[in-house]
Amino acid sequence: MSASPTEAIAIIGSGPAAWTAAIYAARASLNPIVFEGEPIGTELPGGQLMLTTEIENFPGFPEPVTGPDLMAKMKQQAEHYGTRVVSELVRSVDLSQQPFVLTPSYSAPVTAHTVVIATGASAKWIGLDNEIRLAKSGGGVSACAVCDGALPHYRNKRLAVVGGGDTAMEESLYLTKFASEVIVIHRKDKFRASKVMADRVLNHPKVRVEWNTVVTDIHGADEITGLQLQDTVTGAQRTLDVGGLFVAIGHAPNTGFLGGQLDLTPFNYIKVAPWRTVTSIPGVFAAGDAIDDYYRQAITSAGTGCMAALEAERWLAHHGIGQSPMLDTAVAPVVIPADDMMQVG
Ligand code: NAP
Repeated sequence: MSASPTEAIAIIGSGPAAWTAAIYAARASLNPIVFEGEPIGTELPGGQLMLTTEIENFPGFPEPVTGPDLMAKMKQQAEHYGTRVVSELVRSVDLSQQPFVLTPSYSAPVTAHTVVIATGASAKWIGLDNEIRLAKSGGGVSACAVCDGALPHYRNKRLAVVGGGDTAMEESLYLTKFASEVIVIHRKDKFRASKVMADRVLNHPKVRVEWNTVVTDIHGADEITGLQLQDTVTGAQRTLDVGGLFVAIGHAPNTGFLGGQLDLTPFNYIKVAPWRTVTSIPGVFAAGDAIDDYYRQAITSAGTGCMAALEAERWLAHHGIGQSPMLDTAVAPVVIPADDMMQVG
């Protein structure tokens, strides 16, 4: 157990929800500590926006801002008001009693009276043996075009992107900068992506779509050479020569480290009360994509991060730690029966 004093608030995450929670908590003089994570494979501190190019829909930026720039600015703002940042993952938590215990990768466990979980979601993989093997070895399979697309390996080659959502559209358009041709492989006969993004892809001269098609295997020993494809309507198999594969089929919430201590939805997102960030454990709040498989926007994530910090501030004040201008309305800690909780997803 750490000999350090118990933190008023510990925030886990490093996306818009985490930094917004930190900004609010810091300005409320709660001296927050943020565990921002560490680079692992394609996962970077900063969350999914680290894998995004230009963001055109975050208010306050009339010119597009890149995801990494936006995250750097949010972190800088949080630090400016006194947030302390630890560049480690939280490997496990003990939420069974107060104060809660957070165990990071390398440093000593930290105790905290309130925790904001804003650990976001991670990219999904198709689940093929050769996909994971080649992704791990840098053999031309990736879940992040923005991270890897500019690497020499992918230059002037035919590249495939799997998926039919906005991420697949965005990755395909990004890859047109480097690829000789981009093939979008989608299992249905129309995209789920927003019309504006889908139209950009469909009208791009370098992009072709393989509709009603799934990838059943990946060819290549050390480097990808091609894909085994199957028609989802006829079942017919065919091969496609490619020099790279980008998997863009959605995300899974990063909630495994909670070890089942918080109530989760059937899709493993953290359950919170309607229009609140309270979880099934009083004093633990959750925000961002870890609670949201519906909106998944930087701005909504930031919004719930703000809510989580304000709720933590109120909870602490109610328990005699710090002050809250909203204490008068914080009559009691909010405990919502599990049946009344919002089912996200
Ligand atoms: P998504 O909307 O869930 O789309 C996932 C896509 O992958 C779907 O087309 C799905 O097919 C396909 N898929 C899922 N599992 C598959 C599998 N095992 N094999 C083959 N295909 C599979 O995920 P997303 O594209 O990551 O987008 C997530 C959210 O972020 C959305 O709300 C999106 O609007 C938002 N977003 C916005 C922007 C932007 O505004 N610039 C950029 C990126 C993402 P089906 O269609 O058949 O289900």
